[in-house]
Amino acid sequence: MLTEIAAGNAYDVALENFDAAADALELNSDTREMIKYPERILAVTIPVRMDDGHIRRFEGYRVQHSSVRGPAKGGIRYHPQVTLDEVKALATWMTWKCAVVNIPFGGAKGGVTCDPKHMSTGELERMTRRYTSAILPMIGPEQDIPAPDVYTNPQTMAWIMDTYSMTKGYPIPGVVTGKPISLGGSLGRNEATGRGVFYTIESACEHLHLSMKGATVVVQGFGNAGSVAAQMLYDAGAKVIAVSDSTGCVYKRDGLDIPALIQMKSITGHVRGFPESDEITPAELLAMNCDILVPAALENTIRADNATVVRARIVAEAANGPVTPAADRILESKGIFLIPDILCNAGGVTVSYFEWVQDEQHLFWEAQDVYNRLERVMKTSFRDVLKIHLDRNVPMRIAANMLGIGRVAEAVQIRGIYP
Ligand code: NAD
Repeated sequence: MLTEIAAGNAYDVALENFDAAADALELNSDTREMIKYPERILAVTIPVRMDDGHIRRFEGYRVQHSSVRGPAKGGIRYHPQVTLDEVKALATWMTWKCAVVNIPFGGAKGGVTCDPKHMSTGELERMTRRYTSAILPMIGPEQDIPAPDVYTNPQTMAWIMDTYSMTKGYPIPGVVTGKPISLGGSLGRNEATGRGVFYTIESACEHLHLSMKGATVVVQGFGNAGSVAAQMLYDAGAKVIAVSDSTGCVYKRDGLDIPALIQMKSITGHVRGFPESDEITPAELLAMNCDILVPAALENTIRADNATVVRARIVAEAANGPVTPAADRILESKGIFLIPDILCNAGGVTVSYFEWVQDEQHLFWEAQDVYNRLERVMKTSFRDVLKIHLDRNVPMRIAANMLGIGRVAEAVQIRGIYP
């Protein structure tokens, strides 16, 4: 299933989406040349002593797409299908995403091709520390600030912060975000992406005059982003009728008990076998009649070959790049309202920014303060994108890219070229 999902080239999608928005903005070719491609790419070899004593080599990457509006910012992914092109795509999207929510960061991303599910904690720690030391010249609180992504978490960030700090000789919490609270992490960071997804869905429901109470929801990918969004939708009275992870899909017409499902997954590691639910296939999950579909797994899950079966009213892209350009056109023709990834899942990087601000100022904000600021940023950004969508009569994805790319273009034009 994973091979099929990651089959498309995400970087081609990122470039195609850029061109569509740049055309709509009528950007001149000089500006396009300056902002379209990554500024800096590092590929590294990571030797790791495995628990059985032998040494295994992993490949890792760090891509800085843009530092035009501020330090580069973006997560680190551990996954068997990480490729340089995938990391370049994710770094590109980070640039437009930070600009859409108007935070003073550029875009970056990192990744290591590995299978963390089959590695021990010790192996993961040694790999993380060696990867950190390999990318060390590129990262830093004023330069490039990593964060968690798929299969990395606060513990991974703690190892990165420790390795970086030990090399410099003093503690530097601002080098990563998504840290444990005890190391200078922000309250609200862990659930920030899912919370932000929820705020954008709330705004979309308001725009479409769709009541959240009783709305039916399907979530593909029940990890950090997907499970928090599901929990908040459940708390708001929506019925989450189907959920999946990499091990299977569960379905219940009257709505799944999301708190119980989260609890079960935290113990067993999967959603499969959830009591009083039916097992369905990934294809059936996508085709489910529902109000809100939340793809929250990986790229290219909704493609030309399966977009026709989608029957949701809203598709909220918690994941990065889950809908291909061809599928975009199909969803658009069916009148489905899309909340594009660079808007929908920007809550994570927004609270990462809050965390970085707190680290730099040695401050510690209360959770409610973080939530209020996040809600304001997400709802303002939604309104800004919706306005372009309506005023210019362009799809929501193009509208979001126009907002983000337009802000980066303006900044690069003012900065000019060095030397
Ligand atoms: P995660 O590792 O916590 O969760 C990923 C989930 O997807 C897991 O439950 C996994 O089992 C599931 N999954 C993997 N393959 C699947 C498949 N083929 N079908 C169904 N489910 C599958 O990762 P996450 O942090 O929640 O990230 C998910 C997506 O959200 C990614 O695209 C990521 O880039 C994006 N995102 C995450 C954040 C963040 O702060 N965590 C921020 C912005 C965007």
